[in-house]
Amino acid sequence: MSFKKILGQDKAINTLRGFIAAGRIPQAMIFHGPAGVGKAMAALEFAKTLNCLDAASNKIFDNCGLCQNCKHIDAKTHPDIIFADFAYQAMLRKEEVEKQQNIRIETIRALTAASQQKAVFAKWKVYIIDSAEKLITGAANALLKYIEEPPPNTIWILISSKKEAMLSTIKSRCQPVAFAPLSKDIITTILKDNFVEADLAEQAAAISQGSSAKAALAAEVLGDFASLPSGAAFAAGAAMSLPRVAAQARAQVASVLDMLSVMAYEQWVKEASEREANKNLLTKLVFYKRALLSNVSPYLIMEAALMAADDCKINFK
Ligand SMILES: [Zn+2]
Repeated sequence: MSFKKILGQDKAINTLRGFIAAGRIPQAMIFHGPAGVGKAMAALEFAKTLNCLDAASNKIFDNCGLCQNCKHIDAKTHPDIIFADFAYQAMLRKEEVEKQQNIRIETIRALTAASQQKAVFAKWKVYIIDSAEKLITGAANALLKYIEEPPPNTIWILISSKKEAMLSTIKSRCQPVAFAPLSKDIITTILKDNFVEADLAEQAAAISQGSSAKAALAAEVLGDFASLPSGAAFAAGAAMSLPRVAAQARAQVASVLDMLSVMAYEQWVKEASEREANKNLLTKLVFYKRALLSNVSPYLIMEAALMAADDCKINFK
């Protein structure tokens, strides 16, 4: 595997390969852009390319995916390349992944302590922080001096789909690398590669706002909807078929609210006569999104949102 497996991000990938070609690697970067467009994958491919032991791959600023360094980075078992996401924090804290809401100071201390150690067998040590907008202030402050003055051959990559929510003190110390929303065709290809049936893949891609992560969840939800009755019973049926685990139910409802927003917006653009009704629906959907972040039952929000949308002739059946 190599940079080639990352679809639709030529500009970002060329920037990263350009850093290596020029021999000027920024000591801290922020990979930013929509969720599910390949930022984390690019961070790992970059770490592999910096450390790949294959001379032919080195020459073309890519990686072989087969040498010891590449294999360990892919398996996330390389001692010098740490991918710090909620799963990593859960492992450190001996907790469930679902319990991780933000990135804590102890997690950052584990990374900064590692960054001060000599490399075990990498040429470049790479520390990747996923969902960096979730750094609590204390954790962000604990990180500052390390991203400003890392030891030689040490790189920090912060990944964020909400760069605007990050502290400016962190952002100002990092080189930004922008990742673009993906085209519908690329998302359809990615979903089909992941065994989503073609029609469903196209339908999900059309309402996923350029994010393959959103599209994958949308395809799952739309797949579940296929077996539900249409008409008046649909909203209640959809609410009842939500997963019992609250976090999973919330994620599915968020996906439905996103899809309805896209559909309402498209109808708003197309149907001049329905503008007022669609505008009201969009306002309601914003309200439901906020309610979902508080403690309101996801089951209730699902039913209310589907009914409100159906009033505007926006539905999944
Ligand atoms: Zn390699």
